[in-house]
Amino acid sequence: MLGILTSLSLRTKLIIVYVFILGAGGLITSFIGSLIVNDTIMNQAKSKVHHDLMTAYNVYDNQLSQIRNSIYIGASGRTIQACMKSDNRDMLRTRLQQIRNDVELDFLTVTDKEGKVFFRVSNNENNGDDVSSIQVIKAALQGRVAAATEIMSNEMLANEYEDLAEKAYLKILDTPMAKPTNKMEETSGMVLIAASPIFDENGEVMGTLYGGHLLNQDFTIVDRVWDLVYKGEQYKNRNIGAVTIFLWDLRISTNVRTRNGRRALGTRLSEDVFETVLVQGGHWSDRAFVVNDWYISEYYPIKNYSGEVIGMLHVGTLEKAYLAIRNRVILTFMGVATSGFLLIVLISYLITKTITRPLEEMVTVTQSIATGDLNQKVKIRTRDEIGKLGSSINIMVKSLNRMRAELEDWGKTLELKVRKRTDELRDMQAKVMQTERLASLGKMAAGIAHEVNNPLGGILVLSSLVLENLKDQDPNRTNLEEVVKQTIRCRDIVKGLLQFSRETIPKMSMININIILNNTLSLIEKQSIFHNIDIEKELDENLPLVMADDSQLQQVFMNILLNAAQAMREIGSLVLTSYFNSKDNMATITIQDTGQGIPEDIIDKIFDPFFTTKDVGEGTGLGLSIAYGIITKHNGKMSVHSELNKGTTFTIEIPVPENSTKQIS
Ligand code: ADP
Repeated sequence: MLGILTSLSLRTKLIIVYVFILGAGGLITSFIGSLIVNDTIMNQAKSKVHHDLMTAYNVYDNQLSQIRNSIYIGASGRTIQACMKSDNRDMLRTRLQQIRNDVELDFLTVTDKEGKVFFRVSNNENNGDDVSSIQVIKAALQGRVAAATEIMSNEMLANEYEDLAEKAYLKILDTPMAKPTNKMEETSGMVLIAASPIFDENGEVMGTLYGGHLLNQDFTIVDRVWDLVYKGEQYKNRNIGAVTIFLWDLRISTNVRTRNGRRALGTRLSEDVFETVLVQGGHWSDRAFVVNDWYISEYYPIKNYSGEVIGMLHVGTLEKAYLAIRNRVILTFMGVATSGFLLIVLISYLITKTITRPLEEMVTVTQSIATGDLNQKVKIRTRDEIGKLGSSINIMVKSLNRMRAELEDWGKTLELKVRKRTDELRDMQAKVMQTERLASLGKMAAGIAHEVNNPLGGILVLSSLVLENLKDQDPNRTNLEEVVKQTIRCRDIVKGLLQFSRETIPKMSMININIILNNTLSLIEKQSIFHNIDIEKELDENLPLVMADDSQLQQVFMNILLNAAQAMREIGSLVLTSYFNSKDNMATITIQDTGQGIPEDIIDKIFDPFFTTKDVGEGTGLGLSIAYGIITKHNGKMSVHSELNKGTTFTIEIPVPENSTKQIS
């Protein structure tokens, strides 16, 4: 679990935390909210039902009071008393009819003081039966005005009025959730009944007047309450309200409808309410199953004059109607909560994105930097800590870039320096080797020259003397002349060797090299080998004077020019330049020809004494070695650069002394 969490991106983690916190909070809030909404709405419904029942009870009680008052007023008048005394039944009928019509009584009857019927307004002929068993009549016989709800048997009702017994009759219908019963019909009637004593002039009870209203199948009370409380309110074509009067557990007056739309007369009370109200005499305030649906209900017991529970008054509101309101409120609440939740999730997502996006960019940039790509830059969008972090990364990348450039530069310079130094070292090494080789060769040559010079001098002097003394016709003369000639040649070689080995001490003076060059050229130009050679001069007029032996330098130039002419096979062009190399403080002379060039494998040897590619007798191989010796003696440098079949350039550098003045042309 922890592993999965650590591998998730920061954005995902933050969103999970947000969603978890908000989700949990939202769920708890929604749950508690729903409970509160449910409780509030249901309590409100119960409270409304309670008030409705009070209204119903008032209407019921009011009806009973009206009956009581009418009976009392009727009994208190002199008319009934007089009619009884005079047995004037016609008049009594008229009077009783008046009273009955005032309060719409179903029956109105006068008894004698024994409780036997004297006269019935609706059943004139039926009298003499004893009704004193009815509690309110019993009370009236004792001189009290009484009113109550009572149950009258079918027989009693029939006595009062034939149709009344019929009206009371109800077939008992099967009702879901009702207490099982074997009873098939109800013949008794529940009546609102009042009785008042009739006094004679002595104040003695001479009879009673009683009257009542049958509640079975009479809807006056329930419909009045329904009108008052529910005003015809409906939910999905069904009446929301229900008002019922029960005779024991049987609906005798109701506006609850069965499925076929008829009033649910003859249906019965559900079993659980039965226990509470009818058996225990309490009152019920809760949901209850009424005929075919659940109602938020309140049941109130109806008691007879003796205080026994004989029925109930019920008011209920269709639970579905309240559940619909409750569900609508909860759904609205949930909808608002869910929208809020989604909105917060969206906002959280956007906030998280604004935080994590720059971080992700920084990760990408730093990863690129790690792989060596320093051209990356973090985009700065904010000035907060993340923005500052981005700026720091950018500064870091800049520094890294600068350092890398410096390192690269440094590396390049180092490489160049090392290469230059290596070249210099190689040159120096080559020069040292050449110098050493030439020095040892010089030593050897000098040794030989010294040794050979004196005997050679002796040979030349003596052979010359002998030749002078020889006659012109002497046959040995030719041989001796050859001896002298070869000896002179040997002397020249020895002389050359001595020059090469620096045995000849140069006569130094401040000289202008351009003049030496010009002099040398004027000496050789006339020679036939230079006739077809084009000579070009690029001499620096401001070339500083150098300290040198002019005749030795002339010898050097002469040698180079003659070699050039030979290499060009007497046709080509010669370029002579002179300039001042201020960096090394050297007067520099180059002599460039367009001759055959020097092969690479021999170029290192051309300064060696006796190295020559020329035929025997034509070259001694001493010219360049002598020139090299002379230039070295002048602390100068001599080098060659050649390209085969293109030409050769000799470069001579003579140091310019500190006090040298520029040459004046
Ligand atoms: P020599 O001229 O007697 O041969 P040097 O010492 O003057 O002796 O020259 C040595 C060799 O250098 C020459 O034999 C020739 O092969 C080569 N050499 C000198 N100068 C040139 C040149 N300008 N072009 C081609 N080869 C040259």
